[in-house]
Parts: sequence; C-alpha cells; structure tokens
Amino acid sequence: MATGTLDDRGIIVACPHCGQKNRFAYERLGQAVRCAACKTTLSPLAEPIEVDSSAHFDALVAHSSLPVVVDYWAPWCGPCHMVAPEIQKVAARQAGRFLVVKVNTDALSDLGQRFGIRSIPTLAVFGGGRELARTSGARPASDIEAFVEQATSKVRI
Ligand SMILES: [Zn+2]
Repeated sequence: MATGTLDDRGIIVACPHCGQKNRFAYERLGQAVRCAACKTTLSPLAEPIEVDSSAHFDALVAHSSLPVVVDYWAPWCGPCHMVAPEIQKVAARQAGRFLVVKVNTDALSDLGQRFGIRSIPTLAVFGGGRELARTSGARPASDIEAFVEQATSKVRI
C-alpha cells in the first residue's frame, strides 16, 4: 500500500504501478485520482500519514474535504505504541472517508503547544478547518471510529 507525504497543496503518493508521484489535492480528497503517467486509478490513502511540518498540517486541516483524525504521539510514550496499530486499522477501514495523520509532538512541539496537548496519546478530529473534538488515552479501533463518527455527525464538512 502506498504511503503519502504532505505538501502545501495536497498529499503526494507514488503510483504503485509506475512510481510516478501524484498529488491528491486537499480540496478533493474523497475523489478518485488517476496517475498522471499511466492512468491507473489510485485508491484513497489507507495508511496514517506522518505530518512533517506545522505549515503542512495547517494547510491540510484548513482545506481537507474529509474529516482529519489526528494522533498526537511521541516515540517514548508506551500507550502511543499500543494505539498505533489501532490507528492503522482505522486508516485502512475508513480509507476515503477519514484521513488519518500522526503528529510527533517531540518533532513538532510547536503544534503540541499551540493546540495545548498535555497528555499523549491524544486523538483529535478536525473538520471544516477547525477542531471538532478530542479525547486522550489509548483505545481500540472501533472506539476511535465511534468517536470520529460522533464528532463529525453534527457538522457538514
Ligand atoms: Zn502510474
């Protein structure tokens, strides 16, 4: 399965067929993308994306056409490692419905401070350019999905 990286305008994914890099624009994340080189239809991201900069994070949450599930974590945090496979399951099962990203609060301490993340793991849901809900502590994938469904049920994204 392809992994993605963020840039200012979208998620960059290498085509699994030919290796061409393609961009899934943030504004059209739920829509099918065809590879610019070989025209293969690229499936939606089914893995969590590691956020590499706060500028890319801001661009994503401001423009994403899908709800964004954020896993705030750090390498030294035991419960974060327990929740990681559950986050992966959510990304795989909800591909094309939610986008799942991970924020390493050691590497991106400015984001952790700006959003007032005091304990990890913390899960947050962003939609329509703002944070809709957050919860802390490790939990199974089905609980995470229920949390996201509830957070996004009241808003149109
Ligand atoms: Zn291709």
